[in-house]
Amino acid sequence: MKKIAFYGKGGIGKSTTASNVSAAFSEMGKKVCQIGCDPKNDSTRLLLGHICKQTVLDAVRDSETGEVAAEDIIHTGFHGIKCIEAGGPEPGVGCAGRGIIVALDLLRSLSTLEEEDIILYDVLGDVVCGGFAVPIREGYATDIYIVSSGELMSLYAANNIAKGIQKFAARGKVRLGGIIGNSRNVMQEKELLEEFAQRLNARLIQFIPRDRSVNQAEVNRQTVIEWAPDSAQADVYRNLAKKITDNNELNVPTPLTFAELENLVMKYGNE
Ligand code: ATP
Ligand code: MG
Repeated sequence: MKKIAFYGKGGIGKSTTASNVSAAFSEMGKKVCQIGCDPKNDSTRLLLGHICKQTVLDAVRDSETGEVAAEDIIHTGFHGIKCIEAGGPEPGVGCAGRGIIVALDLLRSLSTLEEEDIILYDVLGDVVCGGFAVPIREGYATDIYIVSSGELMSLYAANNIAKGIQKFAARGKVRLGGIIGNSRNVMQEKELLEEFAQRLNARLIQFIPRDRSVNQAEVNRQTVIEWAPDSAQADVYRNLAKKITDNNELNVPTPLTFAELENLVMKYGNE
């Protein structure tokens, strides 16, 4: 079983990319489960066709006995993909990271995901909050992919995540599988991301163009794989899924300093 996590700056495209990659895995005949670790509960929306109606934490709260059954929290989406949302507290109340801990502990105790080929965690946050580091800290996910554009703040978040991976790699199996470039149409973005990845001791595993089909599919509550299966963009996600499946170049990252990041952005942005 492959245990993957997608990390990256808020709004960078983690859930969209994760859902398209999950859809592509399932097309390849893999048994896939996507787990949204984000109190917004929107990770699996494109796979389910709607916002998840019952998160793990909803089920825990609703249960009088404290017992939660697998069917209460595992929802079936596109192509039979298992979709789970950890859930979280009401906005402004309580710790969202704590919610992730409770939800993932409960999932482990149910042991219903042992038959899956791939579990993909879609994680909000840049590992600064301990709660969001749980998927890597506790060994739930070992193969980490960082989604980033060529914008400085996205690279900054990616670099912080790499610092977290470096720390946890020292005492466990967690490794960086690569950088997934999700374009924001920054100047020489692919070249910039390639150098960034290389300096992190990683590789740019895929560069995903910014494309209208992603927005059109989103409006229709679908992945691009489902909405426009013959499009070039769908093939980009299929390529990424294949590369993740075959990846055996997982490394301990070597993060940059902030000054190095700034210089890198300047080098490509000014040319
Ligand atoms: P959050 O941190 O809030 O969970 P996220 O990283 O999961 O955000 P998404 O919700 O996947 O980000 O994407 C944010 C927006 O960017 C969405 O409207 C999505 O459709 C759009 N988007 C993502 N990737 C692309 C792309 N390659 N081309 C065009 N639009 C994109
Ligand atoms: Mg998201």
